[in-house]
Amino acid sequence: MILTINCGSSSLKYQLHAPDLSHVIASGLIARIGEPEGTTDHWVGHRGEHHRRAIPDHRAAFALMMENLTNPEYDVIECPGAITAIGHRAVHGGAIFFGSVLVDDAVMAALRACATFAPLHNPCNIIGIEEAQRMFPGVPNVVVFDTAFHQTIPERAHAYALPYELTQKHGIRRYGFHGTSCRYVSRSAAELLNRPLDSLSMVVCHLGNGVTLDAVKGGQSIDTSIGFGTFGGVPMGTRSGDFDPAIIFHLVREAGLSLTEIEDICYTKSGLLGLSGLSNDMREVMAAADAGNDRCQLAIDVFVYQIRKTIGAYAAAMGGIDALVFTAGIGENSARVRAMICEDLGFLGISIDARANAIARGGHPNISAAGARVATLVVPTDEERMIAIDTAALTAAASARQPGQDLAFALAAQ
Ligand code: ADP
Repeated sequence: MILTINCGSSSLKYQLHAPDLSHVIASGLIARIGEPEGTTDHWVGHRGEHHRRAIPDHRAAFALMMENLTNPEYDVIECPGAITAIGHRAVHGGAIFFGSVLVDDAVMAALRACATFAPLHNPCNIIGIEEAQRMFPGVPNVVVFDTAFHQTIPERAHAYALPYELTQKHGIRRYGFHGTSCRYVSRSAAELLNRPLDSLSMVVCHLGNGVTLDAVKGGQSIDTSIGFGTFGGVPMGTRSGDFDPAIIFHLVREAGLSLTEIEDICYTKSGLLGLSGLSNDMREVMAAADAGNDRCQLAIDVFVYQIRKTIGAYAAAMGGIDALVFTAGIGENSARVRAMICEDLGFLGISIDARANAIARGGHPNISAAGARVATLVVPTDEERMIAIDTAALTAAASARQPGQDLAFALAAQ
């Protein structure tokens, strides 16, 4: 069985996959770590349970996951020995990791070095790996990076026009995020279209609380909307998206705000929440807009406009597109947002069928209008499955390894 672990800044998500990856045996979400009251959800098939209790830190969360997985009532695993490999999500692999890797001491050291780019996330990812090594001695660990898929972006698209020496010295460039989701979804889209991935140019719209638009050409990311940190690109639930950096200097000089306050505003008080003044949740913003709240309508309009603009930019970057793919919470569930985004994009070959859009889910992913040049698809993302796939592939390759063969970057080409 393969266990996948996603240690976020205040949560731990886990999934236990069958050895052939045919299904998920058990899964869980331990949330609000470090708060006075944490929550634990654990599911085995359709059976689930929910608890509330304080979870002081990620090590305690890991112990809780172990308790859930070995709970005899659920008969999931009798002992930790049943787990053959563990896959971990890591947020930032800097410019070092361009594929998933088997964990060794050098990988851990590099992961620690990359923590400077993701101070809230990488340290939690590292704790998850350390605990896995402690609880499952001898079991291989694989780490899958959100940034790795975007390492194929050419320099003209990842370089910022700042003094070159300065950016080189400090590792400043476009890194991008949600790469695991974009990789999974672009592969799935090619399968659904029954066309080779390397023949397709597509724009993936990962529209969740976090938002990434990704230009994927021939299966490789060639540009992506989130940049150096995690708040650039298109507005998100609470994150600003791109804005003129002159605003930061203006806020320091004229509003007397500190850099820490501005950083907090950009990450936690902007996006849909900042514009609407009400919520970061698209469903609430839409309901309020429908009830006549103008700021909520503005939040939706800004969100949709920036996405449309970016789709146009990526179509230009790739010389036209074959597919437009929607995924994540808003992308998968909101026919209305999809319709607003696709409106009047006929000049790019994008045209959707209103009825297909209204019922799009799982079995009916293609929402294109008859005769549309571009296939518009709704494809559920599954980052955990992508992590499990990489973990299975790398551990199988490791067991077939010849002495002296270096597997550290075995998946680099994917
Ligand atoms: P995360 O980035 O936290 O994984 P999700 O991918 O779960 O986020 O997406 C969360 C977003 O999806 C929220 O803004 C939520 O309102 C939105 N969402 C979920 N279902 C719908 C729906 N039916 N209509 C509009 N938005 C939806």
